Amino acid sequence: MSRIAIIGSGISGLSFAYFYLKKNPNTHIEFFENPPPQNSGHLTDLGPFQADLHHDMIFQKNPALELILRDPEISLQAQDAGKDAQTNYIVKDLIPAKIPRSKSSFRFNSILFLTESLKALSNYQKVYSLWDSMSFFEATKTLFMENFSEYFTSAFTRGFLFSEAENTEFAAVFPDIYQYINQNLKVEKAVESAIEKRKNEWITLAQAYSFSADGLSPRAFYYDNPIILKEGMPGLIKSLRDYLKIHGTKFTSAKISSLASKAKTWTLHTKNNKIGPFDMVFTDIDADYLSAIIKEADKELSGELKKMKYNSYSVIGSIYPARQIRLDGGHILIPRKEKSPLARVSLMSNLFPHYHNKESFFIKSYLLGEHDLFSDEELQDILKRELKRFTGLKADPSHFKVVRLRAPQYFPGYTAWRALIRAKISALENLIISGDDFESMLTDRLLESSMKKALENEKP
Ligand SMILES: Cc1cc2nc3c(=O)[nH]c(=O)nc-3n(C[C@H](O)[C@H](O)[C@H](O)COP(=O)(O)OP(=O)(O)OC[C@H]3O[C@@H](n4cnc5c(N)ncnc54)[C@H](O)[C@@H]3O)c2cc1C
Repeated sequence: MSRIAIIGSGISGLSFAYFYLKKNPNTHIEFFENPPPQNSGHLTDLGPFQADLHHDMIFQKNPALELILRDPEISLQAQDAGKDAQTNYIVKDLIPAKIPRSKSSFRFNSILFLTESLKALSNYQKVYSLWDSMSFFEATKTLFMENFSEYFTSAFTRGFLFSEAENTEFAAVFPDIYQYINQNLKVEKAVESAIEKRKNEWITLAQAYSFSADGLSPRAFYYDNPIILKEGMPGLIKSLRDYLKIHGTKFTSAKISSLASKAKTWTLHTKNNKIGPFDMVFTDIDADYLSAIIKEADKELSGELKKMKYNSYSVIGSIYPARQIRLDGGHILIPRKEKSPLARVSLMSNLFPHYHNKESFFIKSYLLGEHDLFSDEELQDILKRELKRFTGLKADPSHFKVVRLRAPQYFPGYTAWRALIRAKISALENLIISGDDFESMLTDRLLESSMKKALENEKP
């Protein structure tokens, strides 16, 4: 029976174990998770709501999620986030303007019409070439025009990737489109080819798990038709954990401090213990943490991993009396042209049935920047000032909660860096890395990647 160690029990590790066991039930899997056990949920009490201040939406249904939803041993229910989720606002000249939803009212500053924008541009019959490490801003400026890219890229990168546009690489955000553009395809053809490639990959994945991918169609721009789980993201984490436990997976609370490899097997070390050997190790921990634990096995790789960059930001959950604010819609995005530390406001009570309440309105706001010098109260004041500017909201929230986080920065040069890291990791053998530093920040992409990795790494 082969033995697999998984370091970190985020959605990547849990789903990898799930997909692996589905195909190879005779495998011993053991998780090592930072004590106290993390469930990636960040559940917190906010007055009338049990709120998840971490993630909440799945942006695209794919075969990986489909398999989980169809599993009779896992009872999760997915639903379209609905019309409201697709109604987003972009702040323009200090006023939130609705981003149009229909093609006929297509406006160039809409981030929800990327495919259409690219198609329109391809009418210029121009072949674009994007050099290797191009920032999101530069790429958009080349493809579009400066003024447009100010709005387009900054709303996108600030609102969804918590980064300034110049710091984010185009190729990292749209890897498939980039690949085809780089092969000198026209933009429209590159988008079509990227979608086609993904569709074929989905068919292969679904077939490998004996179901059909009919009805699942990939989108190039994956923020436009989100779905939510009735049980929320913590429900997905909990269901996978429960499933794995029932199927014999062990969860051990231990912080791994180093890894050693011998004859293609791996031994894990904690401060006082040596655990193993294992035939395979999977990890979804951040690149800088991996740098520390891989140092003894590969010093050069450890040095490269340290080059990963991060952006700090704070998520602020607040509850207002419903008579003060009740905006219909999904998000308010704030481009940096508005010179605000606020990147996005998510109108939670509108999107999620479990946050519906006649008396209260729940919003989640994202403030960019290192906030260690600010108290929670000071951050609340900054948020109140910004909300007042953009929505006129003057009231105090009845509940307020700050969580300080960081997000990977897909920096210019990231794609080449990632290729180098992947090559070095595969040279080590039987070590698999995943997670938002190496794959994507989106749960659906991470699930899909785990499904692929489970198939690619089956042991005879
Ligand atoms: C505020 C916020 C909102 C988000 N919203 C969404 C959303 O709406 N939709 C969406 O799709 N995505 C969203 N995301 C992104 C998504 O949540 C992440 O990309 C995803 O959870 C990453 O999962 P992971 O398994 O790769 O890593 P993680 O969840 O980071 O798991 C890694 C685990 O490894 C553990 N670990 C680290 N070092 C060690 C060690 N030495 N030994 C043992 N364990 C260790 C860590 O404690 C951690 O639990 C959001 C992210 C944030 C922060």
